[in-house]
Amino acid sequence: MKRISKITLILMAAASMTACGKVGERSSLPIPQQPAATVTEAATGTSAEESTTAADTTTTAAADSSETVTTTAADTEAATEAPAANTAAGSSDNTAAAPAQQQSAQTSSSSDNYGPAPVQYDDSRLTYINGVLIANKSYSLPADFAPGLDSTCYNQFCKLSNAAAQEGLNIYLSSGFRSYDYQAQIYNNYVERETINNNGDAVKGKQIADTYSARPGHSEHQTGLAIDVNQIDDSFIGTPEAIWLENHCHEFGFILRYPQGKQDITGYQYESWHIRYVGTDLATQIHNSGLTLEEYFGIDSYYH
Ligand SMILES: [Zn+2]
Repeated sequence: MKRISKITLILMAAASMTACGKVGERSSLPIPQQPAATVTEAATGTSAEESTTAADTTTTAAADSSETVTTTAADTEAATEAPAANTAAGSSDNTAAAPAQQQSAQTSSSSDNYGPAPVQYDDSRLTYINGVLIANKSYSLPADFAPGLDSTCYNQFCKLSNAAAQEGLNIYLSSGFRSYDYQAQIYNNYVERETINNNGDAVKGKQIADTYSARPGHSEHQTGLAIDVNQIDDSFIGTPEAIWLENHCHEFGFILRYPQGKQDITGYQYESWHIRYVGTDLATQIHNSGLTLEEYFGIDSYYH
């Protein structure tokens, strides 16, 4: 727990503007050395680095829906996560001036929240299980797979954010799609940092970084279907936003991907801020099962 918060790397993808009015994804690197401007005044919706950004996060998937269960595994080295930074964004005052969405404070089951299964890509190098694109330590994505943030995922996130805002909560997108190269840089920065923290022991440094940061090609963010919200670190745990997210994200099609106490199964320590879009039907089933995605599909997650 303290580990992550100790890490001052700034991944700070942010630029969120809650209501989804604007979501920017940093395209520049997290630079470890500079405790990155503590950013965000959530209220303004601008992050210190917003300007540098641009990457247009939304994209449309190409595709070919339908069931596929391809299993390929282009083995590239890869990675994913990147708990990062300390943003000062924790507080919520910007309550996404919720453009008066429809819902009442009740969010639940209204069909307006319903999100369909994401579109599938017709690419034999990808691994789909029951229509779900898998990216974990066991299953990687090719380096050139760069779909951007899935548009359905993004739209559903906006509904989620707006519903939360109706209850006075501020849930904003901090990191969405991350390319293979960007993830490589993030991961390498973490390895470097952990190596330094461990007296130059590179093996240990890598080992520790692997508990919270994915190697390039293994990051779920590269699927365009994962989103990190709010501060992206352990300070998010237990906040009203985190609790709400855990209880309601499935209604919008998301699952909390790396739950507490499941590190041995998912391969990653608890990430209260990382949600993965799979569509409302499956998300609800997984949520109700109490299982992780790995357990639900009976797959593993470790670097082979
Ligand atoms: Zn994440």
